[in-house]
Amino acid sequence: MKILVTGGAGFIGTNFCHYIINKYPNYKVVCLDKLTYASSFESLNDIINNPNFKFVKGDICNEDLISELFETEQFNVVVNFAAESHVERSIADPSIFINSNVVGVRVLLDACRKFNVRFHQISTDEVYGGLPLNNATDMFLEDSVLKPSSPYSASKASADMLVMAYRKTFNLPVTISRCSNNFGPYQHPEKLIPLTLKRALNNQSLIVHGTGLDMRDWIYVLDHCRAVDLIIHFGTLGAIYNIAGNNEITNLELMDKVCLIINKTPKKQHTLNRPCHDEKYTLNCSKIEKELGFKSSTNFNQELENTVNWYLRNPEYLNK
Ligand code: NAD
Repeated sequence: MKILVTGGAGFIGTNFCHYIINKYPNYKVVCLDKLTYASSFESLNDIINNPNFKFVKGDICNEDLISELFETEQFNVVVNFAAESHVERSIADPSIFINSNVVGVRVLLDACRKFNVRFHQISTDEVYGGLPLNNATDMFLEDSVLKPSSPYSASKASADMLVMAYRKTFNLPVTISRCSNNFGPYQHPEKLIPLTLKRALNNQSLIVHGTGLDMRDWIYVLDHCRAVDLIIHFGTLGAIYNIAGNNEITNLELMDKVCLIINKTPKKQHTLNRPCHDEKYTLNCSKIEKELGFKSSTNFNQELENTVNWYLRNPEYLNK
């Protein structure tokens, strides 16, 4: 099996490259990444010299590069992690989100059509839009209406629709997974857990959007990788799968947990909510549980502590 992992120098893609190379000694992985500010080439250090691993620097929007790569490498499957991923940046400049997250997906889908390759799109729970905090019963199913709130989530929802249209129009072998918030090693410090850690260690106050009572579900990144592994091997073609960690907590509670691990009690500074903020996204994951037997198996508190300790051992990831 030869897998093209796009965005493999970013947070989840890096973890996925490590996961596949370590789990399947006979598989080949080609990692294609544009190396934006969010990436870290060094995070691939442990596998860069592995004969089953190859890194290519490039943009998924570059049609010539993609066509040449598909022609020479003859992939069996593409797993697309490549994306602009930070909501706040999408408010400042939506255009790069449309390029990488929508146009780039179109380029990859056309290459998959031309070279007859299976395609898996990494999507997000944010495509569904938010549920009110006081709604304790509703959950998003894979066929729930898409109501993205931010330019980021709108670009991801657009990509999902394109993927499903290529399924219907061209019978392309595709799948999509929509996951909740990931945590673990190699994440850029603009994201909540490493940012909280960085500011607390530097004795800076923590920035809290709104009340901080918005809920998020957190999944350990290697659980997400395991779910994607199951989908690309056993998933139903044309299917969408929700993935969650079953660890829903408020942003304030999460910040407090991180600070408790390092024994700090920094001040909190509340700011106005972002205009596109969603209160919570609760996913119903019974489809992936029933069809593929996936359940997140991580002890959240233990893995959060391991993650914090990983950043303490690798402080360069907090100083990017
Ligand atoms: P990230 O920002 O850490 O990494 C994205 C990677 O994609 C970077 O290495 C970047 O250089 C690369 N990239 C961006 N544009 C590219 C382009 N045009 N061509 C080639 N490479 C490009 O993101 P992440 O947190 O690892 O997220 C990966 C995927 O998972 C994204 O599609 C995101 O929408 C999705 N997702 C993330 C989370 C989360 O909690 N992090 C949750 C659900 C879904």
